[in-house]
Amino acid sequence: MCNHLVRFLIFIFLIPLLLTCEKDSPTEPAPSDNLLDPQIILNQVNLDSLTRQVAILSGEQPVLIDTSLVTISSRYSHHSGNARAAEYLEQKLLRYDLQVHMMDFSASGRNVYAVQYGLVDPEQVYIICAHYDSMPDSSISPGADDDASGCATVLEAARILSRYTSRYTIIYAFWDEEEQGIRGSLAYASRAAQLNENIRGVINIDMIGWDSNDDGQFYINVRDTAQSAQISNRMVSLHDQFQVGLSPQVLNPGSGSDNLAFWRFGFGAVGVEEMYGSDWNAYYHTTNDRLAQFNLDYFYKCASLCIVSLSSLVEIES
Ligand SMILES: [Zn+2]
Repeated sequence: MCNHLVRFLIFIFLIPLLLTCEKDSPTEPAPSDNLLDPQIILNQVNLDSLTRQVAILSGEQPVLIDTSLVTISSRYSHHSGNARAAEYLEQKLLRYDLQVHMMDFSASGRNVYAVQYGLVDPEQVYIICAHYDSMPDSSISPGADDDASGCATVLEAARILSRYTSRYTIIYAFWDEEEQGIRGSLAYASRAAQLNENIRGVINIDMIGWDSNDDGQFYINVRDTAQSAQISNRMVSLHDQFQVGLSPQVLNPGSGSDNLAFWRFGFGAVGVEEMYGSDWNAYYHTTNDRLAQFNLDYFYKCASLCIVSLSSLVEIES
């Protein structure tokens, strides 16, 4: 064989080999090419559905749990409404055909979460979450903004996204005893770290109902932990691309609530929250933290952005 032919044959055999090596390398997988248009998700976010859940969780509206009509007037840790709220959330998640788990982390603390397995990479997980306990320690403790607003968003995400398949696993989670020192989320995050679970990212939502000056500002709390910044960037770019109409303020290093538990154990997370400081909820941790004080347009937009961001991260398929 002449030299040219040898080189040609090496070339011909080497190219497929190189391509195979590239395919098998453990780099970030390319997104699927049949992703659902995020606008289809946005179109399904429903304000009536969101406010109904806030009304139920904050005791404005009674609800059937099993066969009894219940008014959840307080979700404070040791009031009976706290356990009723957990039962209600479980019942709701079961209705979306999800696998529901109750995680008792202490004599009084119980997290509720549901799993929707991804079709392609089920061991890789994204979590959307909020805390369901409330303040103050009283038989009337509506906690509509803090944090029925977040819980309603997680339920709305489950209502919409449970109809689809996704590449990665979704966990819809409700933490207990956030108000006693983020106990529920710490219990979950520490167990996940021990079990070496692959949590790719967390969107924690805590208080998205108050915007008294109508400036649309809200915080995305972020830190330089794992993929936190990538999640925040994705949220901001989806916000701009789909003209959600808010004014995102990225805080790094941010604070927040249950997102702190995930940072502590090295997981990527963001904390979505209304403004504090000059436009802080005047009824925070009082018996008047009610749906009537909500800026509904702001609540709807914040919830929409959280849900569409999750759908994009988990790669919902069309
Ligand atoms: Zn809160």
